[in-house]
Amino acid sequence: MHMTDDALLTATLSRVAFLLVFLTVVLSQPRERFLWHWLAALIGSSLGAALMTQFPDSGEPGLALSLITYFLFILSLVCSWSGIRLFYRRRIDPRLLGAMLTLPLLLFAVLDLCQVALNYRRLVIALVCTLPACLTVFEIVRPASERLFSPIVVALAFTAYAVALAGTGVALALDLTLPTLEAVNYPSFAVDRVASILVYFGYIAMAGERANRALRQQAETDQLTGLANRHGAQRALNRLEAARRAGAGNPRTGVLLADIDHFKRINDTYGHEVGDSVIVAVAARLRGAVRDGDVAVRWGGEEFLVLLPATDATAAQVIAERLRDAVIRTPINAADHDIPATLSIGIAEATSEGETLSAAIVSADRALYRAKRQGRDRICTDAAEQSDSDTLIRSTS
Ligand code: GH3
Ligand code: MG
Ligand code: MG
Repeated sequence: MHMTDDALLTATLSRVAFLLVFLTVVLSQPRERFLWHWLAALIGSSLGAALMTQFPDSGEPGLALSLITYFLFILSLVCSWSGIRLFYRRRIDPRLLGAMLTLPLLLFAVLDLCQVALNYRRLVIALVCTLPACLTVFEIVRPASERLFSPIVVALAFTAYAVALAGTGVALALDLTLPTLEAVNYPSFAVDRVASILVYFGYIAMAGERANRALRQQAETDQLTGLANRHGAQRALNRLEAARRAGAGNPRTGVLLADIDHFKRINDTYGHEVGDSVIVAVAARLRGAVRDGDVAVRWGGEEFLVLLPATDATAAQVIAERLRDAVIRTPINAADHDIPATLSIGIAEATSEGETLSAAIVSADRALYRAKRQGRDRICTDAAEQSDSDTLIRSTS
């Protein structure tokens, strides 16, 4: 099989077109370092493929041409791997990166100087290239904090590369008299064509999926405290409601609504900026006092909602005491002032008997209102039968 000039031109032009599109993606998100690594990878493989067409049909290319070509392919594979690591916010050791790029070249040069047979050299090249391809797949499939769909495409492509490279290696090892370079290269070219399309689109899809996630995250996060805002709360509420309807686990969900007492006084006494610092400190203490699966939300100015999955009202009271204690235990230090703060907390519970979380939030709000009316710095429920004297935790001050 020999590529006609037309086919070669088409292949080259489509690579250039892909590169141009990818370049616009990189330039639109220039701070994403993983995109620059992938750009280097894509340029490396394109140039490598272009040089490969200059290899003689049979016999050996010169040492310089083969070294440059193999370097470009290895650069491409190693940069794919390093880009994937950066994408998943994993560290890359520059020394390891340098070794992965230079050791294979040294190895080829030594094999060439020792005049090792061409097929043995190609076997080594194939095996050396299989390693970064496998590492790239490994980086994608290993457990990550966020589950994305688009990396699956890239993992498929690199699995194909790894299989093709290892297959070439095995073919060379079993039958060292493969007639021409093309007998080895043709399947590799075919895999490269298909896999490179998967990689180009996969990378673009990964960048897009990551950017979308980041935007959604930003839209659902309160900028001051880093807690979820009302948007974020809505998604958490939908998720919890769906889990409750699906009957997974304990359907009871505790709902706490906490409000900083006399916050206006803090603002009036120390200024708005110190007020902000107090909100941030209270949010941090709340976050520190709840479990991983609980959802803490900045519900309003100085008002916080906490959703406690699989928690009934009694357990919710214990957690409310913990939150209140976390805030009142030590004054909040802001701008060299020690500012004592207290919380009023309303408690409600969504049970399995069809009470929605939204209804529970309304109950918690009524309970919070009772706590305020009874003098603040305390925890109340909204039990209809409960009288105002039944405050659960009274002010200790
Ligand atoms: P209560 O004990 O009844 O809750 O009294 P309060 O003064 O805390 O309640 P109120 O709701 O009347 O006042 C809340 C104040 O919080 C009013 C508003 O100016 C202030 N506030 C709301 N959002 C922010 C914010 O982001 N930063 C600061 N510094 N103040 C805020
Ligand atoms: Mg308040
Ligand atoms: Mg308030």
